[in-house]
Amino acid sequence: MDKQTHSFQAEVKQILHLVTHSLYSNKEIFLRELVSNASDACDKLRFEALDHPQLFEDQPDLEVRVSFDEAARTVTISDNGIGMSAEEAIAHLGTIAKSGTREFMANLSGDQKKDANLIGQFGVGFYSGFIVADRITVETRRAGLPAEQGVRWSSEGTGDYEVETITKPGRGTDVILHLREGEEEFLKTWRLKSIISKYSDHISLPILMKKEEWDAEKATQVLKDEWEPVNKASALWARSKSEVTPEQYEEFYKQISYDSEAPLAYTHNRVEGRSEYTQLLYIPKKAPFDLWNRDKRGGVKLYVKRVFIMDDAEALMPVYLRFVKGVIDSADLPLNVSRELLQESRDVKAIREGSTKRVLGMLESLANSEDAAEKQKYAEFWKDFGQVLKEGIGEDHQNQERLAKLLRFASTHADEGVSLADYLGRAKEGQEAIYYITADSLSAAKNSPQLEIFRKKGIEVLLLTDRVDEWMLSHLYEFEGKPLQSVAKGAIDLGKLQDEDEKKKAEAAAEANKGLLDRLKASLKERAKDVRVSTRLVDSPACIVVEEGDMSGHLARLLKQAGQQAPTSLPTLEINAEHALVKKLDTSAHFDDLANVIFDQAVLAEGGSLEDPAAYVRRVNAMLLG
Ligand code: ADP
Ligand code: MG
Repeated sequence: MDKQTHSFQAEVKQILHLVTHSLYSNKEIFLRELVSNASDACDKLRFEALDHPQLFEDQPDLEVRVSFDEAARTVTISDNGIGMSAEEAIAHLGTIAKSGTREFMANLSGDQKKDANLIGQFGVGFYSGFIVADRITVETRRAGLPAEQGVRWSSEGTGDYEVETITKPGRGTDVILHLREGEEEFLKTWRLKSIISKYSDHISLPILMKKEEWDAEKATQVLKDEWEPVNKASALWARSKSEVTPEQYEEFYKQISYDSEAPLAYTHNRVEGRSEYTQLLYIPKKAPFDLWNRDKRGGVKLYVKRVFIMDDAEALMPVYLRFVKGVIDSADLPLNVSRELLQESRDVKAIREGSTKRVLGMLESLANSEDAAEKQKYAEFWKDFGQVLKEGIGEDHQNQERLAKLLRFASTHADEGVSLADYLGRAKEGQEAIYYITADSLSAAKNSPQLEIFRKKGIEVLLLTDRVDEWMLSHLYEFEGKPLQSVAKGAIDLGKLQDEDEKKKAEAAAEANKGLLDRLKASLKERAKDVRVSTRLVDSPACIVVEEGDMSGHLARLLKQAGQQAPTSLPTLEINAEHALVKKLDTSAHFDDLANVIFDQAVLAEGGSLEDPAAYVRRVNAMLLG
């Protein structure tokens, strides 16, 4: 075939324009794309040769060579893969075959930023060569065709391209980039090498470059006629599990996480189905220093068919699993996918859901293990990451039930490690709720007067002291059909846990103390919404409670510390009608002072601070003096 000139398909012209104008800021990706194409071509040959081994000719070792010529100002990417016939070169390099391309073009807005993102959806990697080249020559021969049926395809990347027949003894494809003025940086071994190791280390074929040697006479580096591999050529995650040793998994973790310790656990799977991908995910042993930064991107690297796409692909993991490290290698995503696009992709959503389930599965198998050492591992994990996992209760409703089972608490029964299931296992006959109290510290929680009746009756109460707890509880209403109930909120109803006698006694006490309650209400009308006789106190004279739906004192304090305005609603004071101090009230000459002191003490007991400490001191002193 003599030289023919063809016109690019209209879409290609637009793509070319877009690629060269909008991807310029990240121009080194051309090498990633062309090496990836070379690697694909080798994969295709390997596949076709399964049935037709003669396609290997006398060269069964598949490889990619990257070289440059300073004088000619060219960079060449060669492979001995499948190659292209003349028809294939015209079809593959002159048109865009992918379905939906027309719709895509119809959606182009002309806004460079937006379009650069749109472009990520389509396999148009070859054209990225024109970012740095003002002419690309492709010399190729399809495996199985004679040397005389080689093809030279050449274009300046504007309107058209030329095709002619050549003789090409070696099978496969050479892509020769004639660099634009100003792109000399790519005529350097170290520069090309560093791009290859950045993006293509895990391509499983050897990528070869010519060896460089110092020539003392010329006082410069010279290229030798000897090729050496420049990539690691090993994608650990692409191997089958049985081929990878635990030590190798560990080593790889350390490489990608910069952690000096071994991981707590890992999972490695090839997932097939709606979306096809490989996941290798690790849970670290220790929290990184920036765990609390919710804006921190995730620790999962995204690859597409073993080609590195991006670090910290946060769209692949929910925020509350931001401590997970590893690799996800997708078979479906386009190579030049952008972060924005990842957020919207259905494939990515499927990957995120699948990976979330895997991570939860790893945690569950540690938490539920019969093996004490494994269980201990979970306890340690919980210490470092428990608070982050709690964020998931509010963020991931789909997995809320699974997450709730992974929660661990302190309680009146044990200082740590209490699961909701443990709690229910110990619940009293007739107990209708899971009781908890929130406080600023474990000792404040333990000594809270609101717990007294629960202690007396031997009912377990969860002691919640993490900052995230109140928020979490606003999303977790129940566990296995039992509501979570604060012991410091509302009028406590112990339901069946209280016998008839006790109920009657409480009613009688309220009736008998009606006069006292009225006097207290009058005295404290600026400070308490209501005053009533308590059913939850045993040893203390009084306690502060908030009504169901009002903000707890603990949360109000947290908000205040964070510099936020906490809505102010007055609390309720509950008094212990049996307490000597309360009994003394009726006949006290200092009724007003004593009422306020009892209120202040109730505030102190729940970990609050007094608004007017001087007044408190004055009142106590007045009473001490009689
Ligand atoms: P994609 O790789 O997503 O298909 P590209 O624009 O990178 O998109 O490449 C377009 C097509 O050109 C490829 O699908 C392939 O058919 C062909 N091609 C590109 N480079 C080579 C190569 N080195 N060897 C064989 N075919 C190639
Ligand atoms: Mg490609």
